[in-house]
Amino acid sequence: VQTLTGKVAIITGGSRGIGEGIARRLAAAGATVAITYNSSAEQAELVAKSIGEAGGTAVAVRADAADRAAVRAGITEIVRRFGRLDILVNNAGVGGVGAIDTVTDADYDRTLAVNLTGVFVASQEALRYLGDGGRIITIGSINADRIHFGGGSVYALTKAGVAGLTRALAREVSGRGITVNTVQPGPVDTDMNPADGPFAEITRPYIAAARYGTTAEVGSLVTYLAGLDAAYITGATINVDGGYAA
Ligand code: NDP
Repeated sequence: VQTLTGKVAIITGGSRGIGEGIARRLAAAGATVAITYNSSAEQAELVAKSIGEAGGTAVAVRADAADRAAVRAGITEIVRRFGRLDILVNNAGVGGVGAIDTVTDADYDRTLAVNLTGVFVASQEALRYLGDGGRIITIGSINADRIHFGGGSVYALTKAGVAGLTRALAREVSGRGITVNTVQPGPVDTDMNPADGPFAEITRPYIAAARYGTTAEVGSLVTYLAGLDAAYITGATINVDGGYAA
């Protein structure tokens, strides 16, 4: 059975939703986890505390993914604290739906800063520390490949961007024993996309599994990719979407 004991993982945006689910799964597999957050300090501390109470090791660090210096400083702080880095999960992201004629420059810039630049900078910084067996796993979205609604232009372009970045980085760092992959969730019940929200009514008919996914279902795939069993998977885009793209 594969274990992540002795590994140190950073999960960006781990205070809620999918990032929280990933952090809990990685910790249950034995990894020491550091979650970052932007605004939800209290919630992030609660997640770290609850992982600790379940027998794991977790810390929460504020690092706005839209702020290059904060991303770099956060990763440096975590590496200094635990002495190493093995796994980076780029999860922090913002959603937002709007017809193209309503997208403001500020919305566009903010979405790219968090979803795309934040991923690039965190990956760049993490690669200073990752060694043989290192892992970068980025949470993209099935909307990079399939989109069944109007108004997702900015979001989709950021998610297509990270999938391209993944392939390029995989090519660049494979010689160091590091794998780089994108996980593309379909609809997952979180604050961003509540299963009982109005958007769910539009989405549900396209989900082959006829239900929303859970954060644990994304976390289990990420945990598999983080382990040594997945050493031959790199540059891949793997869907966990209940057949949304089928
Ligand atoms: P949530 O909105 O529920 O949670 C977002 C998380 O990201 C929070 O922990 C939040 O922290 C953090 N975050 C947001 N902005 C920043 C920032 N600037 N800096 C640091 N952390 C930040 O979203 P989900 O859990 O649903 O989404 C997680 C990822 O999964 C995103 O990349 C999203 O695009 C992707 N995804 C989600 C799907 C879904 O259906 N839910 C489907 C496909 C992809 P804080 O509270 O502190 O702001």
